Amino acid sequence: GELGPEQQGLVIAHYGQQLDVEALEGEQAGQLFRCFVRANIDSLVTGDRVAWCAGQGSAGVIVARHDRHSLLQRPDNFGQLKPVAANIDHIVLVIAPEPEPHDSLIDRYLVAAENTGIPAVILLNKADLITDANRGSLNALLDRYRHLGYDVVTASARNPESHGNTITELVQDRTSVFVGQSGVGKSSIIQTLVPDRELKVGALSESTGKGTHTTTTAMLFHLDCGGDLIDSPGIREFGLWHMTAQELEYGFREIRDLTGLCRFRDCRHQGEPGCALDAAVEAGRISPERLRSFRRILQDMEEQQARGLKVT
Ligand code: GDP
Ligand code: ZN
Repeated sequence: GELGPEQQGLVIAHYGQQLDVEALEGEQAGQLFRCFVRANIDSLVTGDRVAWCAGQGSAGVIVARHDRHSLLQRPDNFGQLKPVAANIDHIVLVIAPEPEPHDSLIDRYLVAAENTGIPAVILLNKADLITDANRGSLNALLDRYRHLGYDVVTASARNPESHGNTITELVQDRTSVFVGQSGVGKSSIIQTLVPDRELKVGALSESTGKGTHTTTTAMLFHLDCGGDLIDSPGIREFGLWHMTAQELEYGFREIRDLTGLCRFRDCRHQGEPGCALDAAVEAGRISPERLRSFRRILQDMEEQQARGLKVT
C-alpha cells in the first residue's frame, strides 16, 4: 500500500518482527504505530530512534535506525550477545538495608554496567530501615563506592517525599533502567514512577495476543516527571548472567589498569608472588574489600566453569 513521508520515531516495545513505534513529530506525535521493519535493518530494540513511514491505519514501516549512544546486551543460550535495549543514559543499581547488601553481588552488577559503558548509579532504597545497628556498615559500604567515583543516593519507595524526591531527581530528563537483587524495591520504585504500568503492559499483551506473563519484551515508559524508563523482567536480571575473566577485570575500574603489572603474565591474582593487586592494597590504592570481592567472583566463575566442563 501507500506509505506516508519519512518521519522520526521511538521504539516503545519490540516482539519478533514487529515493533511499537511512537511518532515523535507532527499531528500524530505521541501515538503508537505497529511497525514492520525493512529487511536491510539489523535488529531493533526498545529505545531505538528510527525513521519510519506510516502505512494504513495505525501500521507503519521502519526504514532506518539512528545511531545508538548506548546498548544493553545479554548473552543468549549459546553465549551470543543479543541487544535488549538502546539509548539508556544510566543504570540505577538498587540496594537496600534488607536484603542485606553484599559487596560481591553489588560488584557483579557494577562489572556488568562497566562493560556496557553506561554509567551506574547506586540507589539505597528503604532508607526508613536504616537503624543505629546498620548505619555504620551501610555508610562504610557506600563510601567505598563514592570513593570509586560512583554516584550514590538514598531514597524510600514507601515514602518518597521523605527524602526530597531523590528518585524523581535521579530519573528526570534521562532514560533509566533499574537493576538489583530481588526484594530491594525495584517494583515499588517503578510503581511510584509509572502508576499505570500494569495497564500499559496489559494493553501491550492484549495487542500482541500474548498473556501478560509471557510479555518479556523491554517496554519504554514516559515518566510524568520527565524522562523515560525502560523495564522488563530480563533487564531486572541484568548483571547476573555469565561473564568472562576479561570482563571481570575490566569491570573493576580501579583494578583494570593494574592486572598488566603482575609479575606473571598468567597471574590469577589469588596471592601469587608479585601480584600487583596485593601491592595496590598494601599501598592503599585499592580497598581490601574490593579485592576480596574480585577474588570471590573469579573463584565462583572458575567453579562454575569446572562444573560446566564436567557435565559436557
Ligand atoms: P523487587 O523484588 O526489587 O521488585 O522489590 P519489591 O518492590 O517487590 O519490594 C520488596 C519488598 O520491599 C516489598 O514488600 C515492598 O513493599 C518493600 N519495600 C519497597 N520499598 C520499600 C521502602 O522504601 N521501605 C520499606 N520499609 N519497604 C519497602
Ligand atoms: Zn595478579
